[in-house]
Amino acid sequence: ATQPYDPGNIFAKILRGEIPCREVYRDDWALAFHDINPQAPLHILVIPTGPYVSWADFSANASAEEIAGFVRAVGDVARQQGLVEPGYRLLANIGQHGHQEVPHLHVHIFGGRQLGAMLP
Ligand code: 5GP
Repeated sequence: ATQPYDPGNIFAKILRGEIPCREVYRDDWALAFHDINPQAPLHILVIPTGPYVSWADFSANASAEEIAGFVRAVGDVARQQGLVEPGYRLLANIGQHGHQEVPHLHVHIFGGRQLGAMLP
C-alpha cells in the first residue's frame, strides 16, 4: 500500500486556492500550472483534482472516469500549448527511488526546445 494522502501538501493547497500558481488549464479532473523552477522553456505540471499520492496510488485506486479525464487533460494541455508537432516529454516521479518531492500525483510536461536523451 502507498502512504496515506496528506491534505497539507503544497499541491493540495494550490488545488484549494490557498497558494497561487500560474494556471494554464483546469477542468473537473485536472489542474495544470507552470513549474516554479522550470527545467525547460515550457515546464508544466498536471495534477489530478482527486487526492492521490502518486501514479502508483492513482492507477490502482482512481475510477475509470478519473483516469480517462486526467489522461485526456494531460493531452489537452500539450495540445493547447502547441507542443504536439514539435514534440514534448511527459515524466512522473514516483516515491523514494523516483525522487518524488511533492506527495500529490503530478505529471511533468517538458517542451519548447530539443530535449536530450532520456535520463536516468
Ligand atoms: P517532483 O520531484 O516531486 O516530481 O517534482 C516536484 C516539482 O514541483 C518540482 O519540479 C518543483 O519545482 C515543483 N514545485 C514545488 N513546489 C512548487 C510550488 O509551490 N509551485 C509550483 N508551481 N511548483 C512547485
